[in-house]
Amino acid sequence: MDASAPATTAPAVLILLGPPGAGKGTQARMLEQRFGLVQLSTGDLLRAAVAAGTPAGKQAKAVMEAGDLVSDEIVIAILRDRIAEPDCAKGVILDGFPRTTVQAEALDDLLAETGQRINAAISLEVDDAAMVERISGRYTCATCGEGYHDSFKTPAKAGICDSCGGSDFNRRADDTAETVASRLAAYHAQTAPLIAYYEGKGVLQSIDAMGEIDSIAGGMAGIVSRAMS
Ligand code: AMP
Repeated sequence: MDASAPATTAPAVLILLGPPGAGKGTQARMLEQRFGLVQLSTGDLLRAAVAAGTPAGKQAKAVMEAGDLVSDEIVIAILRDRIAEPDCAKGVILDGFPRTTVQAEALDDLLAETGQRINAAISLEVDDAAMVERISGRYTCATCGEGYHDSFKTPAKAGICDSCGGSDFNRRADDTAETVASRLAAYHAQTAPLIAYYEGKGVLQSIDAMGEIDSIAGGMAGIVSRAMS
């Protein structure tokens, strides 16, 4: 945790905005470790609901496979439950939420109830054209969630996770070239307007997210340090 962060302030709330493949999950994991925050990914929560076969998961499955957005009602309910859990008192990095104006307004209401504020909404700026290659080659360690890519980041020893030594890896069902087009379209139609929404609130920060993961992480850490102080 950043020792310079005052202990008495309300828990930090950071939002990561950016199209699928921009690196939100990778950067959120790095920030989580560096600042002692909790990564809260609605995509991960929905995939867990699908795997568990909950009523919400059953409704979300086909929508996710088509690359469309799950209904605001379902996503807001899932987020509301998760953010109320005790570990989130450390502060959260919202990865993939909000994705619509309705969700952004629901988040504002939720934070107002708990006396919290948004420290920063960080927009990861990337070229759409590069996202298809990024997404179609990515996979994660099934044990610890470390992210890899067929071209950009392979494990040092083939088939063995650098972080935990695990040997099982997952590829997401929706990480296909066909679905990426729908997901990018959903981002531009429904999520990109949130950049102006957060700019209007004075909390928007932007970062060029086309470079090396570590140098982007350095820039992100600078933004987050300033936003938390
Ligand atoms: P992600 O892991 O963030 O790429 O999300 C994977 C899929 O889950 C998306 O393509 C959507 O179908 C669904 N999803 C995740 N977060 C949201 C959200 N905030 N609102 C609506 N759908 C979402």
